[in-house]
Amino acid sequence: MPGILTDSQRQTVDPTEIEARIVVAPLAARVRVVLVGTTHPGNIGSTARAMKAMGLKHLHLVAPERFPHDEATALAVGAADLLLTAEIHANLAAALDGVDIAYATSARDRRIDWPTFTPRNAAADIVARDETQVAVVFGPERSGLSNTDLDLCQRLIEIPTVPDFSSLNLAQAVQIIVYELYAAAPLRVAPPRRNRRLSDQSASAEDVAQLQRHCMRVMAEVEFFEPGKPKLLDRRLRRLLSRAELRDSEVKILRGFLTAVEERLERQRRAPL
Ligand code: SAH
Repeated sequence: MPGILTDSQRQTVDPTEIEARIVVAPLAARVRVVLVGTTHPGNIGSTARAMKAMGLKHLHLVAPERFPHDEATALAVGAADLLLTAEIHANLAAALDGVDIAYATSARDRRIDWPTFTPRNAAADIVARDETQVAVVFGPERSGLSNTDLDLCQRLIEIPTVPDFSSLNLAQAVQIIVYELYAAAPLRVAPPRRNRRLSDQSASAEDVAQLQRHCMRVMAEVEFFEPGKPKLLDRRLRRLLSRAELRDSEVKILRGFLTAVEERLERQRRAPL
């Protein structure tokens, strides 16, 4: 990948020379770790410690069972500052406010047939998406993320394991992923700055969600599904659109097409019989 130094390059380049040429990637400013429904406060503390060691600082907690808690503070060791600034939310949607791409994490799960990233590939993907706000979302210890919460995410990260024992301790799963982010990103040759408006960026999660709702409205209007039974279609369409990694211009084409269908239907409704 252009602009990213590999481990071996990093070891051979004179650090003073690097300093003159690179900017430190502001990953900490655009990556948040979200823990959903954590049961054990110790896992929250260990997560803070794992994050701090890898240079991340934004911890978001969705309905933690017990927090703040002595055990969280004890296991955070020198990273208690991340617990003090941690933001607490009632639900995942609130924790994802302002996020462009959310990466769900899950142990092997047959319910989910999305394309999955390894932690290393996900880290490369995140590092390459300059100026994108990213969340990495972790589920409760016992049950993992619910379908409803998975629906709010656009990518899936699975830490490879042996086939018949895939579930890791929550904070250890966090550690592996934040380590890969750190390894992929600490030194970065300053990229030529692109004009955001001129280049065709990846569509934001909000734009894709609006496209998905627009599709559902038009499908309802042309009676594509049985009224009141769009549930499964809704979810499959959402996953299809997330998987497609649409760009801004592609969302515009599809929205334009749907609007043209709506306008045509409207004209037909008004036309005298
Ligand atoms: N029985 C649950 C286990 C949850 S472990 C399940 O099957 O998902 C708690 C959290 O740790 C998970 O929700 C996920 O966020 C993370 N985790 C554990 N093992 C993982 C793995 N192999 N890959 C990715 N995330 C994992």
